[in-house]
Amino acid sequence: MDKVKHAKEVIEYAIKTYPKIGVACSFGKDSMVAVHLAREVDPNIEVFAVMTMFKPQETYDYLKKMNKKMNLNTTIYMVGNSAPEAFNDASLNVELLPAKEFETISTKVDSEKGAPIYKVDPDECCRLLKVDPTKEAVKNLDAWVTGLRNTEGRTRTDYEEIENKGGLMKINPILTFTEAEIWSYMSTRGIEPHPWYSQGYRSLGCAPCSSPGGDLERDGRWQDTSKCGGECGIHTQVLK
Ligand code: SF4
Repeated sequence: MDKVKHAKEVIEYAIKTYPKIGVACSFGKDSMVAVHLAREVDPNIEVFAVMTMFKPQETYDYLKKMNKKMNLNTTIYMVGNSAPEAFNDASLNVELLPAKEFETISTKVDSEKGAPIYKVDPDECCRLLKVDPTKEAVKNLDAWVTGLRNTEGRTRTDYEEIENKGGLMKINPILTFTEAEIWSYMSTRGIEPHPWYSQGYRSLGCAPCSSPGGDLERDGRWQDTSKCGGECGIHTQVLK
C-alpha cells in the first residue's frame, strides 16, 4: 500500500510540474499498472503505445480489448504501410510512420547476411521500429511516465524515480515494485493480463525476440543475440 500511495504521489507531482505529460504503455504487466495508477490520478492523462509489425497478434488483440475496457483512448505509433486489422477501431488513434527506411535497411541486411535484421542487428531493428517512433511520440511532451522496474533485469538496477534525459523528464513511479507486487496490484484491481503470461513469459516484446522463462524477468528478451536480456534503447537513449 505504501508503494502504491508513493507511486500516485510521484505521478501527481509530475502532472502538476510537467503539464505536457503522457504515459507509455506496451500493454505488458508493468505498463498496465503504471497506466492504471496514472489514470487514478488523472483520468484524462494521455496514453501512447509504440507497436511494431513484429508484435504478436495477441498483443494487438489485448491492446484493443484493454483500450476499450479501461477507456484509454490510446494513440499508437507504428512504422508500417498499414495498421493491423485489430487497430481498426474508433477508440484507437493510429499514427503510421514511414516504413521506407526500415524496408531498405532490413532488405539489405537480409540479402547480405541471409538472416532477418532482428537476429543479425537487433539494435538497428529496435532503433528503426521502437526508438525512432518513441521519439515521435514524445516530441511534444515535457515528461513521460513509464512502467520501468529495478528488478526486471540486469540493465534496470540503477534507474531513478525521476530522470532528466536531455530535457525530457522520465517518471518511473513503480520503480521499486517487485514482480509479485505487480501481479498483486493487477489481481486486486481486476486487470486482466496479456495471455502470454499464462504461457510462462515474464517480459513481453516482439514475437521473434521474446521467450518464456528466465532467472530474471527480462532474460527471455533477445535470446541468442548480442543483446540478450538487454534494452531496446528507449530507456537508454536521449529521445529529444
Ligand atoms: S524487439 Fe526484435 S523485432 Fe522488435 S524492434 Fe527490437 S529487434 Fe526488432
